[in-house]
Amino acid sequence: MIQYKTKEEIEVMRHSCLLVGKAHAAVAAVLKDGMTTMQVNNIVESFILDHGGIPSFKNYNGFPAATCISMNEAVVHGFPGDHVLKSGDIISLDIGVYKNGFHGDSAYTYAIGEVPAEVKQLLRVTKESLYKGIEKARAGNRIGDIANAIQEYTEKKYGYGVVRELVGHGLGRSLHEDPQVPNYGKKGSGAKLKEGMVLAIEPMINMGVKDVIHLKDGWTVLTKDRKPSAHFEHDVCITKGDPDILSSFVEIEAAEKGNGNLAWSYDEGNVK
Ligand code: MG
Ligand code: MG
Repeated sequence: MIQYKTKEEIEVMRHSCLLVGKAHAAVAAVLKDGMTTMQVNNIVESFILDHGGIPSFKNYNGFPAATCISMNEAVVHGFPGDHVLKSGDIISLDIGVYKNGFHGDSAYTYAIGEVPAEVKQLLRVTKESLYKGIEKARAGNRIGDIANAIQEYTEKKYGYGVVRELVGHGLGRSLHEDPQVPNYGKKGSGAKLKEGMVLAIEPMINMGVKDVIHLKDGWTVLTKDRKPSAHFEHDVCITKGDPDILSSFVEIEAAEKGNGNLAWSYDEGNVK
């Protein structure tokens, strides 16, 4: 059942969603080769706790860490350990914050050191596809309009693989609410979008095939062909007017741009 939020609830949610962006920015400012994924996780977890939040993912269905950290060919749901970041890696961080009764949930993929141009393109296009989807997140449209916009841009235009098994979702008092928000589908299909819905829109886009495999660790999802995968996620409220993006990449992008150890540059044709 879809949970529609009041305007007051949306403002409480916005606070949780913005805190996720700030947690991302805290780690984006210091990410570099030589760090371990556990160090990355610990920066995120400390930031969330210091700001009165609870990491949404920690212990969620038994998930072993505060942050989902998925390296290179890992699509999502990787978890931290003693892996050392090196130049050429991409690292997707998916961060959730629970505060004042509501969750925020946002993902971003970072590039460490020198990264091939084709990988930078994957990141750029995945992020752009998120905004293509958000543009369709309007009252009166349907879930399939969002899904189709993402699929058309990534699969048709660039030939990338759109992961089928993992999808976006409603967000609110629960981390995963109805409806599901796939990154593929037909225009005009699925649930109708109405004011007060909050959707976590999260394209998970593979450079190669769309197929994924599940590691025996019980969590990590990898691309079947072991080519890289990127993940960007915003929380979006449906309004009577333009989509209201509750999460923010502004501080993340500023931190990223100011960090000389990250390859990704906003002077390379990126969108907001
Ligand atoms: Mg997420
Ligand atoms: Mg999500």
